[in-house]
Amino acid sequence: MQRFWKETEYLKGEQVPAGAVILPAGTCHWAARAGCYMCGYSGMEKRSPALTGSGGAIKILERALDELGEVEYLKIFNSGSFFDERQISAETRREIYELVSSRGVLRLQVESRPEFVTSEKLEEASELLAAELEVGIGLESASDYVREVFINKGFSFADFSEAVERCRRRGVRVKAYILVKPPFMSEAEAVEDAVESGLAAARAGATRLSYNPVCIHRGTLVERMFLRGEYSPPWLWSVVEVLRRVKRRLSLPVVCHPTGSGGRRTPRNCRRCTSQVASAIREFSATQELEVLELSCECRERWKLESRVEVLAW
Ligand code: SF4
Ligand SMILES: [Zn+2]
Repeated sequence: MQRFWKETEYLKGEQVPAGAVILPAGTCHWAARAGCYMCGYSGMEKRSPALTGSGGAIKILERALDELGEVEYLKIFNSGSFFDERQISAETRREIYELVSSRGVLRLQVESRPEFVTSEKLEEASELLAAELEVGIGLESASDYVREVFINKGFSFADFSEAVERCRRRGVRVKAYILVKPPFMSEAEAVEDAVESGLAAARAGATRLSYNPVCIHRGTLVERMFLRGEYSPPWLWSVVEVLRRVKRRLSLPVVCHPTGSGGRRTPRNCRRCTSQVASAIREFSATQELEVLELSCECRERWKLESRVEVLAW
């Protein structure tokens, strides 16, 4: 499995070199207990007890930073919550801050469920970390009903808003992750929910929105639905529509990094345009220029007819 890679990201009005690193630091406690319906980590602790602890995390991060070269925006993913000490100990967390501070990184992004985003941990980061901190929180949907019943997320919009407020008080930024097409929703409902969720997250104080179109991961409820023909990942046209509608209304960065090659388990359009539209979405994420998304293909008409999404004119 690839543990780190280089990207271009949009930061402070320009494109900057960015890096993403995956730290093998245990598994999300929620995944082990119940798990979100689309998450490939669900049930992981039961299936993979040998996942390493955080001991090797520093070595992995050090090697990744050496190989990535200049990185202004560094994203650390740890299959759960950076601030959960069952995954990353307090000592390792502090060592990570020291290491990142010594490498000229401008912004460090970590991910966490809101219950671990405490004032003490944010205070500690502002003392030890030279870079700006950005906390990514998987809100998924601003609707408590969608998040609870369709996703099984295990926290409320109020929990998210309170964590955002704790961050805001300490000058910490929040990236809200929003799901495109949770299970049990039609394509058109999913587009509306993703747009409304982005706007609500911004009103709550999120400073960046990252849209995640659903991929089918093994062992998930979403996979069971997919195998029975009851669910399919979203069209990339739906993702384009969400990005266009949200970016027209908000000045904060709105990004999406679609993964997969357009197979049946990943977001897709037709064979002819899938990779072109996915590249355009990545380019839009790095530049924030809406014109990049003015694309066409024969399958766009099919998407409009099948999905009944209300489409904005270019
Ligand atoms: S989506 Fe996030 S919170 Fe949900 S089970 Fe996966 S890692 Fe945990
Ligand atoms: Zn097409």
